[in-house]
Amino acid sequence: MNIRIGNGYDVHRLQEGRKLILGGIDIPHTKGLLGHSDADALTHSIMDAMLGALSLGDIGLYFQPSDPKGAGADSQKLRAEVNQLVGDRGWCVSNIDSVVIAEQPKLKPYIHAMRDRLATTLALDSDQIGIKATTHEKLGPMGREEGIAAYAVVLLQKVMQNS
Ligand code: MG
Repeated sequence: MNIRIGNGYDVHRLQEGRKLILGGIDIPHTKGLLGHSDADALTHSIMDAMLGALSLGDIGLYFQPSDPKGAGADSQKLRAEVNQLVGDRGWCVSNIDSVVIAEQPKLKPYIHAMRDRLATTLALDSDQIGIKATTHEKLGPMGREEGIAAYAVVLLQKVMQNS
Protein backbone atom coordinates (compact mmCIF):
# COMPACT_ATOMS: atom_id res chain seq x y z
CA MET A 1 0.00 0.00 0.00
CA ASN A 2 1.33 3.42 -0.95
CA ILE A 3 -1.18 5.46 1.01
CA ARG A 4 -2.20 5.57 4.66
CA ILE A 5 -4.90 7.62 6.39
CA GLY A 6 -5.09 8.88 9.96
CA ASN A 7 -7.47 10.96 12.02
CA GLY A 8 -6.88 13.13 15.05
CA TYR A 9 -8.89 15.05 17.61
CA ASP A 10 -7.92 17.51 20.32
CA VAL A 11 -9.62 19.91 22.69
CA HIS A 12 -8.23 22.50 25.09
CA ARG A 13 -9.93 24.66 27.67
CA LEU A 14 -10.15 28.43 27.11
CA GLN A 15 -8.77 30.59 29.89
CA GLU A 16 -8.06 34.27 30.42
CA GLY A 17 -4.42 35.31 30.47
CA ARG A 18 -3.36 32.81 27.80
CA LYS A 19 -2.47 33.42 24.14
CA LEU A 20 -4.76 31.84 21.57
CA ILE A 21 -2.56 29.90 19.13
CA LEU A 22 -4.18 27.86 16.35
CA GLY A 23 -2.34 26.47 13.35
CA GLY A 24 0.76 28.29 14.58
CA ILE A 25 -0.96 31.68 14.35
CA ASP A 26 -1.41 34.04 17.29
CA ILE A 27 -5.10 35.01 17.14
CA PRO A 28 -6.28 38.07 19.07
CA HIS A 29 -8.92 37.06 21.65
CA THR A 30 -9.86 37.71 25.27
CA LYS A 31 -8.90 34.14 26.21
CA GLY A 32 -6.38 31.53 25.07
CA LEU A 33 -6.07 27.77 25.23
CA LEU A 34 -4.76 26.20 28.41
CA GLY A 35 -2.14 23.46 28.19
CA HIS A 36 1.40 22.41 28.93
CA SER A 37 2.63 23.53 25.49
CA ASP A 38 1.13 26.44 23.56
CA ALA A 39 -2.04 24.27 23.49
CA ASP A 40 -2.50 24.62 19.72
CA ALA A 41 -5.42 22.17 19.40
CA LEU A 42 -5.45 22.30 15.58
CA THR A 43 -1.77 21.43 15.28
CA HIS A 44 -2.13 18.70 17.91
CA SER A 45 -5.02 17.10 16.02
CA ILE A 46 -2.89 17.10 12.84
CA MET A 47 0.04 15.54 14.71
CA ASP A 48 -2.22 12.79 16.08
CA ALA A 49 -3.58 12.12 12.59
CA MET A 50 -0.04 11.83 11.18
CA LEU A 51 0.97 9.40 13.93
CA GLY A 52 -2.28 7.47 13.61
CA ALA A 53 -1.76 6.94 9.88
CA LEU A 54 1.34 4.88 10.68
CA SER A 55 -0.03 3.32 13.91
CA LEU A 56 2.62 5.18 15.89
CA GLY A 57 0.36 5.94 18.86
CA ASP A 58 -0.61 9.43 19.98
CA ILE A 59 1.24 12.59 20.85
CA GLY A 60 1.02 11.84 24.58
CA LEU A 61 3.49 9.03 23.94
CA TYR A 62 6.14 11.42 22.58
CA PHE A 63 5.42 14.65 24.45
CA GLN A 64 4.57 14.06 28.08
CA PRO A 65 2.90 16.83 30.10
CA SER A 66 5.30 16.03 32.95
CA ASP A 67 8.32 16.94 30.79
CA PRO A 68 9.50 20.44 31.81
CA LYS A 69 11.11 20.86 28.34
CA GLY A 70 7.63 20.93 26.81
CA ALA A 71 6.35 23.77 28.99
CA GLY A 72 5.08 26.54 26.73
CA ALA A 73 6.51 24.72 23.71
CA ASP A 74 5.78 25.96 20.19
CA SER A 75 3.64 23.16 18.75
CA GLN A 76 5.20 23.70 15.31
CA LYS A 77 8.46 22.42 16.80
CA LEU A 78 6.68 19.37 18.23
CA ARG A 79 5.01 18.81 14.87
CA ALA A 80 8.41 19.00 13.17
CA GLU A 81 9.46 16.04 15.33
CA VAL A 82 6.38 14.13 14.15
CA ASN A 83 7.31 15.05 10.54
CA GLN A 84 10.70 13.53 11.20
CA LEU A 85 9.17 10.29 12.53
CA VAL A 86 6.95 10.02 9.46
CA GLY A 87 9.74 10.97 7.05
CA ASP A 88 12.18 8.51 8.63
CA ARG A 89 9.72 5.72 7.82
CA GLY A 90 9.57 6.79 4.18
CA TRP A 91 6.25 8.63 4.20
CA CYS A 92 5.17 12.18 3.44
CA VAL A 93 1.92 14.12 3.84
CA SER A 94 -0.26 14.12 0.74
CA ASN A 95 -2.98 16.33 2.17
CA ILE A 96 -4.65 17.38 5.39
CA ASP A 97 -8.24 18.31 6.08
CA SER A 98 -9.35 19.73 9.38
CA VAL A 99 -12.20 21.37 11.26
CA VAL A 100 -11.86 23.78 14.18
CA ILE A 101 -14.86 24.18 16.48
CA ALA A 102 -14.87 27.58 18.15
CA GLU A 103 -17.87 29.65 19.17
CA GLN A 104 -15.58 32.70 19.45
CA PRO A 105 -13.51 34.25 18.00
CA LYS A 106 -14.54 34.05 14.38
CA LEU A 107 -11.64 32.28 12.67
CA LYS A 108 -12.42 33.05 9.04
CA PRO A 109 -10.00 36.03 8.86
CA TYR A 110 -7.14 33.78 10.03
CA ILE A 111 -7.72 30.63 7.97
CA HIS A 112 -5.46 31.77 5.15
CA ALA A 113 -2.60 32.60 7.53
CA MET A 114 -3.01 29.26 9.35
CA ARG A 115 -2.90 27.34 6.05
CA ASP A 116 0.20 29.27 4.95
CA ARG A 117 1.94 28.73 8.29
CA LEU A 118 1.24 25.00 8.34
CA ALA A 119 2.22 24.70 4.68
CA THR A 120 5.55 26.40 5.38
CA THR A 121 6.33 24.29 8.42
CA LEU A 122 5.28 21.05 6.67
CA ALA A 123 7.00 21.96 3.35
CA LEU A 124 3.67 21.61 1.54
CA ASP A 125 1.62 23.89 -0.70
CA SER A 126 -1.24 25.62 1.06
CA ASP A 127 -3.74 23.88 -1.26
CA GLN A 128 -2.72 20.61 0.41
CA ILE A 129 -4.08 21.91 3.71
CA GLY A 130 -7.78 22.30 4.37
CA ILE A 131 -8.91 24.19 7.46
CA LYS A 132 -12.59 24.72 8.11
CA ALA A 133 -14.09 26.60 11.04
CA THR A 134 -17.48 26.13 12.58
CA THR A 135 -19.29 27.16 15.73
CA HIS A 136 -20.99 24.64 18.01
CA GLU A 137 -24.34 26.45 17.75
CA LYS A 138 -23.99 27.43 21.44
CA LEU A 139 -24.41 23.75 22.41
CA GLY A 140 -22.29 22.07 25.11
CA PRO A 141 -18.87 23.17 26.43
CA MET A 142 -17.61 24.38 23.05
CA GLY A 143 -20.85 26.28 22.54
CA ARG A 144 -20.41 27.95 25.95
CA GLU A 145 -16.91 29.09 24.90
CA GLU A 146 -15.28 26.88 27.52
CA GLY A 147 -12.91 25.36 24.98
CA ILE A 148 -11.89 24.94 21.36
CA ALA A 149 -11.72 21.57 19.61
CA ALA A 150 -10.20 20.41 16.34
CA TYR A 151 -10.51 17.36 14.12
CA ALA A 152 -8.02 16.43 11.40
CA VAL A 153 -7.66 13.80 8.72
CA VAL A 154 -4.26 13.26 7.12
CA LEU A 155 -3.41 11.24 4.03
CA LEU A 156 0.18 10.02 3.83
CA GLN A 157 1.86 8.73 0.72
CA LYS A 158 4.93 6.56 0.39
CA VAL A 159 7.92 8.51 -0.84
CA MET A 160 8.93 7.04 -4.21
CA GLN A 161 12.59 6.07 -4.33
CA ASN A 162 14.46 6.46 -7.59
CA SER A 163 16.42 3.29 -8.09
MG1 MG B 1 -3.45 19.09 22.85
